Amino acid sequence: MIPNKTTRILIVDDEKMNLKVLTELLREDYTLVLAKNGEQALKFARQKPLPDLILLDVVMPEMGGHDVIRQLKEDPLTKEIPVIFVTALSSTGDEEQGLKLGAVDYITKPFSPPIVKMRIHNHIRFVHHHRLLDRLAYLDPLTEIANRRRFDQVLVKELSRAARNCTSLSVGMVDVDFFKQYNDQYGHAMGDRALYQIASSLKASLERPGDLVARYGGEEFALILPETDAPAAGRVAEKARRAVENEKIPHTISSVSSHITVSAGTATVRFTGRAGEQLRETRDGQTCEHTVESLMLQADQHLYKAKQNGRNQVWP
Ligand SMILES: [Mg+2]
Repeated sequence: MIPNKTTRILIVDDEKMNLKVLTELLREDYTLVLAKNGEQALKFARQKPLPDLILLDVVMPEMGGHDVIRQLKEDPLTKEIPVIFVTALSSTGDEEQGLKLGAVDYITKPFSPPIVKMRIHNHIRFVHHHRLLDRLAYLDPLTEIANRRRFDQVLVKELSRAARNCTSLSVGMVDVDFFKQYNDQYGHAMGDRALYQIASSLKASLERPGDLVARYGGEEFALILPETDAPAAGRVAEKARRAVENEKIPHTISSVSSHITVSAGTATVRFTGRAGEQLRETRDGQTCEHTVESLMLQADQHLYKAKQNGRNQVWP
């Protein structure tokens, strides 16, 4: 990876001279954010877009680097951001403590600029690789949309968020009509292409940033629609169904259409009452698990109804 200006580095140092040296060294390759004390460091570290790397001075008045990293590691928002200590302390004990607190590296002052530059480049490369692997782990390789693992993870998160905020959460199950027959007639390579096209079209039909479509398995797709009540979920699913139909992928032996179509079922859970009240209930692991399962089961039953009613439709 070639370093580029979309990569952000937060540099924290109480001495202007040190900030200046590091800035001179890195400004060509990265977007830099500067903080002159621990308090500012924590503030800037939590501002979006989050920094990709933090260079942190150990010795600062009031809040030192060790306190800063402790707080960064306690906060889910910032705990994954790699931190490199930059310090004049040079005993192995200090270095050991810094690394124990979760720093990825320890650079001692005075440092050699080209070496520091290389080390930072290496860490940034690692950050980007790590992120790529992370993304791939949650991507369905065939359709390039979210996979089942990602779906399950997001659903648990959205369910507890809906409970906490007392809002509605909807899910949808989408199944391709007569897909086995499609594969039999057109072959698996065409089947794969069709799935890719269906996935893209489902994804394009979702408008809000919080909505998610995932490949649930085989020719089944699933939707997560946060803050969406039952009628709205029906509309979104209907829009998705129409989007697939409008792709006009030929399917001559389908008995519902001459093109590929999908059936969909939706289910909604609505949390009411005072904000926070339901949270205790669903934070209990088992209750939460149960609700995820019952919600998906209901969507599946509704999908079955849509199939029974003649396919190429949404239920309810
Ligand atoms: Mg200092």
